[in-house]
Amino acid sequence: MVEVILFDLDKTLYPCDAGLQEEGDRRITRFLCERLRLDQPAADALRLRLWAEHGTTARGAEVEYAIPQPELYEYAIDSLSPEQFLCADGRLAAMLSGLDCRCCVFTNATPRYAHQVLATLGISAQIERVFDIEWLGWAGKPDRQAYERVIEALGVAPERVLLVEDRAENLVPAAELGMVTVLVGDDVGEADYRIATVTDLPEVLQGLVSGASALGCGRPRP
Ligand SMILES: [Mg+2]
Repeated sequence: MVEVILFDLDKTLYPCDAGLQEEGDRRITRFLCERLRLDQPAADALRLRLWAEHGTTARGAEVEYAIPQPELYEYAIDSLSPEQFLCADGRLAAMLSGLDCRCCVFTNATPRYAHQVLATLGISAQIERVFDIEWLGWAGKPDRQAYERVIEALGVAPERVLLVEDRAENLVPAAELGMVTVLVGDDVGEADYRIATVTDLPEVLQGLVSGASALGCGRPRP
């Protein structure tokens, strides 16, 4: 029944304590310090507010301060070296190889960074396609249009698409469109299923096939 699995990238395909996203956040704060001439605490508070109110800090900086999004991404994200924080994950590669579905990535990150992360994790071959922020026209999750564009490009009914994400807010538009939603980690919010780590995903899929409600790690929404 599930034909395509869409994976978020950061903190979904690698452990939430890897430190990579936090390094990106530090660089975004530094960018805001320099670009807007703010001190560090003010820039950090601004980063968080823009992220919460606009889905991504880059989107917020563009809307509120007319800073082109590519400028922020180039400074803070494309300059990252994922190999300093991640390593090849054979268990993840084996899990992905064993899935009887098309596997794609749906991320608010840039294509350069996304492909670097996939290569570092050793899972480039298992990912059919990356839907990145550039492809999305710099309007990514949780903008509903982003999900609609991805669904259209996949050519699959939303009910046959499963989204795996660590941020509950990003699952809301997916659920509204009829996609199956899986929340990874401990964020608070609605999801069809919850799993501790992405490698628990086969248990969710088994439950979908059998229609079982007791899925071990994957817990259906009450
Ligand atoms: Mg994420």
